[in-house]
Amino acid sequence: MVHETGFYDLLGVSPTASMDEIKKAYRKLALKYHPDKNPNEGEKFKLISQAYEVLSDSKKRDLYDQGGEQAIKEGGMNSGASPMDIFDMFFGGGGRMQRERRGKNVVHQLGVTLEEMYNGSTRKLGLQKNVICEKCDGYGGKKGALEKCSNCKGRGVQVRVQQIGPGMIQQIQSMCSDCQGQGERFNSKDRCKNCNGHKVERKKKILEVHIDKGMKDGQKITFHGEGDQEPGLEPGDVMIVLDQKEHPVFQRQDNDLIMKMSIKLVEALCGFRKTIQTLDNRTLIISTMPGEVIKHNDVKCIQNEGMPLFRDPYERGQLIIQFQVEFPEKHWLPEHLMFQLERLLPPREDVMMTDDMEEVDLCEVDLSSQQKHYSREAYEEDDDGPRGGVQCQTH
Ligand SMILES: [Zn+2]
Ligand SMILES: [Zn+2]
Repeated sequence: MVHETGFYDLLGVSPTASMDEIKKAYRKLALKYHPDKNPNEGEKFKLISQAYEVLSDSKKRDLYDQGGEQAIKEGGMNSGASPMDIFDMFFGGGGRMQRERRGKNVVHQLGVTLEEMYNGSTRKLGLQKNVICEKCDGYGGKKGALEKCSNCKGRGVQVRVQQIGPGMIQQIQSMCSDCQGQGERFNSKDRCKNCNGHKVERKKKILEVHIDKGMKDGQKITFHGEGDQEPGLEPGDVMIVLDQKEHPVFQRQDNDLIMKMSIKLVEALCGFRKTIQTLDNRTLIISTMPGEVIKHNDVKCIQNEGMPLFRDPYERGQLIIQFQVEFPEKHWLPEHLMFQLERLLPPREDVMMTDDMEEVDLCEVDLSSQQKHYSREAYEEDDDGPRGGVQCQTH
């Protein structure tokens, strides 16, 4: 019984979501609200991370479902992991130790169509990144011309004194803006003109992302050492996370493709021939024999017409077809012909009417009031008042 749903709401999933759905929701939101992409949404990033930390751990999730956020706090279940730790753990960005010696990893999301994952494709991705300045080799100016910063006297910090009340002053320390906290700087004539003393310059780099046949939603492609360059640090990695776009016809389930196909009642009963356009633009023909009845929601499959297997692309999953039988509209057949149809169909079972039976009206179900009833039931289990059954509406 779920009482509090705040964490689920933050991730935009239902309280019955599977682990896969939770992971996918976190992946999308974390990339969207990561401070690198969205510096003003730090708070949102933190909340998403907290929610994911709890919901991705079955023990913590159970505790949360039973007692909400309060139970997590009281249960001492706060790991104290920072949102960045959670992010790095999820995307495999290396631990804190690694981060000190290396520049940080950058994660980008790349929207990919199902066709691209089926056929394979190469995408070019333009990326702005810091590279060591070519002109000064990352030194920032003329060799040996580095001087102590006069603004901060070499301390790297500025101290400002502010009066906050009568006789009360406050000292505010901040990084020296003249030397960026380095304590040393070049004077303007010795400073590298190319990077303006910043040691790095912003350059556009084109990455070729190879999407191999059979790659999956959420799969990572790592470009080692393609992160921002910084003097004295090994650059981090650029990670591309594939985000599979919805397809109008096919849904993917691992290596299988699932599609719905509408057939008419006559086709369901008397057989049909239909075509399917594959993701590599072939046309498949499927057919059933007359008399081979297809029922509504029947499922059939075509072997080896699903998604290619990653790294084994000659093998493919199944194409699963869910049939939807379209019934004719009301009164499609003049009443006087009905008996002819009935003669052809399997016989019906008649009920013998007796005196102790009660004849009642059959009416349309009002779906909206029924839904209200169900959701109320889900949240108020100990409501022992009388229950309204299915609501009927007379016409
Ligand atoms: Zn300074
Ligand atoms: Zn330079």
